[in-house]
Amino acid sequence: MKKRLGLIYGGKSAEHEVSLSTARAVTQAVDFDRFEVIPVYITYDGEWRKGQSLERPIENIEDLRLKGDGTHKPDSIHDFLNGSSGALDVVFPLLHGTNGEDGTVQGLLEVMNLPYVGNGVLASSAGMDKVVMKQLFAQAGLSQVAYVHFIRSEWNANSAQLIEQMEKELEYPMFVKPANLGSSVGISKAVDEKSLTKAIELALKFDRRIIVEQGITAREIEMGVMGNDHPKCSVAGEIKPVTEFYDYEAKYSDGNTVLVIPAKVPEEVRKKMVEMSIKAYKVLDCSGLVRSDFFVGANDEVLINEVNTMPGFTPTSMFPLLWQKTGVTYPELIDELIELALERHAEKQ
Ligand code: ATP
Ligand code: MG
Ligand code: MG
Ligand code: MG
Repeated sequence: MKKRLGLIYGGKSAEHEVSLSTARAVTQAVDFDRFEVIPVYITYDGEWRKGQSLERPIENIEDLRLKGDGTHKPDSIHDFLNGSSGALDVVFPLLHGTNGEDGTVQGLLEVMNLPYVGNGVLASSAGMDKVVMKQLFAQAGLSQVAYVHFIRSEWNANSAQLIEQMEKELEYPMFVKPANLGSSVGISKAVDEKSLTKAIELALKFDRRIIVEQGITAREIEMGVMGNDHPKCSVAGEIKPVTEFYDYEAKYSDGNTVLVIPAKVPEEVRKKMVEMSIKAYKVLDCSGLVRSDFFVGANDEVLINEVNTMPGFTPTSMFPLLWQKTGVTYPELIDELIELALERHAEKQ
């Protein structure tokens, strides 16, 4: 019997298009002899559209934007997903950012008692919010950059005081980020008070919560982690953006960013990254997968930047490439993640 695999993609998120690329890639890698693949598209407006089982891999991204015969709101989602055409055996939420990587869709799948790939509710939501994540990392003794955080209403009430606090606690350049996003959307580097204000105004367009970090000059090195209770790490990979930092363009359009895998780092640094990745995995209670992002300073000091609970997942994204160089091909990666989803689900019963 083929397993019925639901692919959920798109989403009400600034990372919608990235999700579509991932979905296409997954349809191309999944074994159609073993899986019946059911596409579920979430539009920009948050409408869920379930398609017919796919007969073949998707070539044209536009084919993923399902038209559907009707729209379905989350209140009827149970019947919608599990309806007359048969229940799904496992779901792969190929969603990044809001309503997908942040624990909300994971919560829905929990309530429906459906096995799903990747992190659960807690890890997803704690990993999505850069402030909560950093607070947990600090508690686990993980080194990271200094930061200040606030919400929109605090900024509106007294921006001068906040600027003063940032200038007191941090030095330029600073990195301003929406607390809950990814793919560098809404992130900018601030070099003086004027650009700091501008950067904050931009970030506030994406989120009500903002984090401002100490900017550092460092190598950017990432590691893949996969597993449930016994996670293992991939080789490390270095990003060498040609732009000022690893921004959205550099991630998805500009072909100039160089990924060096495995990264050329001293064994000590690699070991430190493994140790910190596992610590971060445990403190957030992760399952399935994460990609952990580090800064490595000139003196080989290792700081954790973040973990991504649903990292970019196209075949040219860092996470699959890291595993490829570790000896796990893209189709094997998908298989293993589905196995981990089923294993975690079985343990819960
Ligand atoms: P993704 O989820 O796609 O990895 P993100 O939106 O969560 O990205 P970050 O990884 O936090 O964002 O930051 C994006 C990029 O900005 C980093 O890869 C790095 O190039 C730069 N950057 C972020 N924070 C800092 C910092 N404190 N100092 C120097 N550079 C930074
Ligand atoms: Mg991120
Ligand atoms: Mg991300
Ligand atoms: Mg990152």
